[in-house]
Amino acid sequence: MENRAIPLRTPLDVEAAWTAFERRDRAADGRFVVAVKTTGIYCRPSCAARRPRREHVAFYPDPDGARAAGYRACLRCQPDTVTRDRRAVAEAIAAIEAADEAPALSDLAERVGYAPHHFHRLFKRATGVTPAAYARACRAVRAAQALSHEMSITQALYEAGYAGPSRFYAESEHRLGMAPGQWRRGGEGATIDWAVAPTPLGPLLIAITTRGLARIAFEPDEKALIAAFPAATVRAATGETLRRLAQVVAEADLADPQLPEAVRRTAFIEAVSRRWLAPMTKA
Ligand SMILES: [Zn+2]
Repeated sequence: MENRAIPLRTPLDVEAAWTAFERRDRAADGRFVVAVKTTGIYCRPSCAARRPRREHVAFYPDPDGARAAGYRACLRCQPDTVTRDRRAVAEAIAAIEAADEAPALSDLAERVGYAPHHFHRLFKRATGVTPAAYARACRAVRAAQALSHEMSITQALYEAGYAGPSRFYAESEHRLGMAPGQWRRGGEGATIDWAVAPTPLGPLLIAITTRGLARIAFEPDEKALIAAFPAATVRAATGETLRRLAQVVAEADLADPQLPEAVRRTAFIEAVSRRWLAPMTKA
């Protein structure tokens, strides 16, 4: 019998749901749950458990539906926590972006009501980077913006949220690809190699020096790069450099597609930056 009091939902596309489940597609988490008739358990689509046969599976738009049909939540993938996890990650990102200085992991975790270790893992899984790395990405963007204004370098570093000059100079060498003063003088004396890599989030321009990253941004071409560094030698990357750039982009983790695009881009830029800079910062 049909219950007319229940509002109609968009019907589930069962074929698409099965494909997502087969692929353990994280992007499908929160869109539906998968109930397994032989075990009486329901899972999120990305659950790591072995895949049952197709005829033993039923799809429900949400956990409530599966529970009403007598299924229990999987202890492994905890399908009931998807929405809460997403909200927690989104709230933490907003807190990081609004903060002048990177919030401590324990403060972030407490704010969203999770244990620090668990939240760290959750955040990394959702965004591809740690909360601290995400905060560094925000700070690097702010530092570049502040430096391009008519501020002194000291003003700019405090404006960007660095606690002091030593931290700023240690990090900015890699994050600007050159000394801050040189960066402000249009890249005077620097040689910059650039490439544009296609990514699922759009074309990504990466411009490097031997010291680090001069620019990394979602841009289709080198126009803004050349405008920012009128005093540098700017050239298209070739050979081994180009190959390594492409590899770093291909290996970087993508964030959960249900996060806002701006967040996914920031996280991806940071994931690529960290991979590129890893050999230089490990010294
Ligand atoms: Zn499961």
